[in-house]
Amino acid sequence: VEKKVLVIGAGIAGIQSALDLADMGIKVTLIENTPTIGGHMAKLDKTFPTMDCSACILTPRMVDVGRHENIQILVNSEVVNICGKKGDFKVKIKVNARYVDEKKCTGCGTCAQKCPIEVPNEFDKDLGIRRAIYIPCPQTVPLIYTIDRDHCVECKLCERVCDAEAINFDQNSVEIEETFSSIIIATGFGEFDIRKYPRLGYGRFKNVYTALELERILNASGPTGGHILRLSDGKIPKRVAFIQCVGSRDHRIGKPYCSRVCCMYAIKNATLLKEHLSDIEVSVFYMDIRAFGKGFEEFYNSSAKRFKVKYIKGRVSEVREVENNDLIVRFENILEEKCIEEKFDMVILCPALVPSKQFLKIAEMIKLPLDEHGFVKIRGQAEQCSTLIDGIFVAGVAESPKDIPDTVAQASSAAMNAYLVLKEVET
Ligand SMILES: Cc1cc2nc3c(=O)[nH]c(=O)nc-3n(C[C@H](O)[C@H](O)[C@H](O)COP(=O)(O)OP(=O)(O)OC[C@H]3O[C@@H](n4cnc5c(N)ncnc54)[C@H](O)[C@@H]3O)c2cc1C
Repeated sequence: VEKKVLVIGAGIAGIQSALDLADMGIKVTLIENTPTIGGHMAKLDKTFPTMDCSACILTPRMVDVGRHENIQILVNSEVVNICGKKGDFKVKIKVNARYVDEKKCTGCGTCAQKCPIEVPNEFDKDLGIRRAIYIPCPQTVPLIYTIDRDHCVECKLCERVCDAEAINFDQNSVEIEETFSSIIIATGFGEFDIRKYPRLGYGRFKNVYTALELERILNASGPTGGHILRLSDGKIPKRVAFIQCVGSRDHRIGKPYCSRVCCMYAIKNATLLKEHLSDIEVSVFYMDIRAFGKGFEEFYNSSAKRFKVKYIKGRVSEVREVENNDLIVRFENILEEKCIEEKFDMVILCPALVPSKQFLKIAEMIKLPLDEHGFVKIRGQAEQCSTLIDGIFVAGVAESPKDIPDTVAQASSAAMNAYLVLKEVET
């Protein structure tokens, strides 16, 4: 019996499952397909409803994962094949070349300082820039640089300045095969393609942003250093609108389900905007405010009463751009029964959470039953982390949209179930 568990996806769900198992003495391999662990939580500024700094909660856990003797982290990696059964899964993993020797790189960053190539940084939702040799963010774990060969011009300046002699342009991707007693899927989410709503102007108008883009603008390590600016002209916005349920709860071109976190993160970010800029006006256009968790309703009430965020029950029919890249929002105010147009400096769209595309490839490979929305199907309400394949568990948004506390709870439950499999096959 192989006493090892495979965790696929290293967001907060994968991190929590890996740490729980490792602390129980179980060896874990944690696979992540980007160059750092952390997932979406690493990109957030604050967390609702306590307004704790997201990085302050997450970074110590990332460091614990990086240092844990029972955890092997494989970043830039993907699952190529899974076969076998509970207690004996044979998994083929491809570790993509990063052209930097992991054992030699000290993470000093001299290579990136000298690299002449600038490209949009995916970690900042392409709003900021990085170099062709890079780490996605300052908190990257493991702290090892990666060369993006699609943009690298092979000037080899990085090679010349690297005192550790870590640059290796001849490095190849490697495939490894290992056996695991059980598997936890923690592949998280992607964003609904909001270009399906051209009437809301995303991609056409410079000052229409997604909520994740706003998280990066608000973040001190983000593209504006935490200063709230319009990226079209650097102006400080005076009026900002949030549009809720873009793709969620829409049976026609969107998804029929509620994405569960958008009301709360809109309230959070509306409050943050007010905290940063005292004379800013913020309006939230919503269908219903779903403030269902502990302290959530109080958080909502305080944003309306203390911070004077305006909540308008109504659907937005159109966003138009006018002079100076300002935006006109046309909406129906349901409570006042009238159609109105108002001018804003920035519009923030809150898109539905959808399953990660990379996960869907794995689901197809192992014929994992999914629910009607593409999330992992579970055995029932009392077995929320058990998939329909024995020995394979699920945690976090890969199972369904949820916030960080619910994700962490499900991840610990998945870890305990994976542990029980190990004990069961051992006896
Ligand atoms: C704008 C916004 C603001 C939010 N604010 C809050 C908040 O304030 N408070 C709160 O509680 N919640 C908030 N949330 C929700 C929070 O982001 C999620 O609850 C949390 O990130 C879920 O974690 P996860 O690990 O399930 O998924 P993710 O964070 O998506 O992590 C999944 C990881 O798996 C990796 N991965 C995917 N597929 C594969 C694959 N095939 N192989 C290897 N790796 C893979 C991904 O690269 C990623 O690193 C917010 C969400 C959004 C969109």
